[in-house]
Amino acid sequence: MQIAKNAVVHIHYTLKNDAGEVLDSSDGSDPLVYLQGHGNLVVGLEKALEGKKVGDSLSVSIPPEEGYGVRNTDLIQDVPRSAFEGVPKIEVGMQFHADSNHGPRTVTVTKVADDTITVDGNHPLADQTLHFAVEIVEVRQASKEELSHGHVHGPGGHHH
Ligand code: ZN
Repeated sequence: MQIAKNAVVHIHYTLKNDAGEVLDSSDGSDPLVYLQGHGNLVVGLEKALEGKKVGDSLSVSIPPEEGYGVRNTDLIQDVPRSAFEGVPKIEVGMQFHADSNHGPRTVTVTKVADDTITVDGNHPLADQTLHFAVEIVEVRQASKEELSHGHVHGPGGHHH
C-alpha cells in the first residue's frame, strides 16, 4: 500500500540541520507513527512521503516555509517578571504555554533581566532547513475512529 491521505505510517527518521548535526532521530527507539494528511508532520515531509511504500527510503531537504516556519520577530516579546508568578526561578531555555496575538503557543525564554523576561514564540527550528533521512517501515489504512480523532491509536500513537 502506498502512502496517501488517511494512511497510518511507521517511519524511522533522522533529522539534521545544515551543519550536519543530528537534531532528532528515531534511531534506537520505536518508529514514529503518524496519520498522513492531518498535519501530524511538517507539511514538506508529508509531501515527500506521499506515494511512497514500505521499504522505500528517501532523503529530503525541507525549506523553513514547509518546515517549522520563518522566524517572525513579532513573536519575540518582553514580558514583566510579574507575569511568571508562581515560577520560582526563570532561566533561559525554559518553555511555557502562553496566549499570544497569534493564538496559543509554546514560548521559550531567551533572556532574563531583573524586571523583564524576553520570550520567543517562534519554533526552536524556525528558519532552519530540515534535512530528513526517512525509511518507511509500515503502512496501513487508518480506522474510522482514528480518522475522526485525526491521530493514530495503539502502539506509537494515542492511548485513550
Ligand atoms: Zn484518539
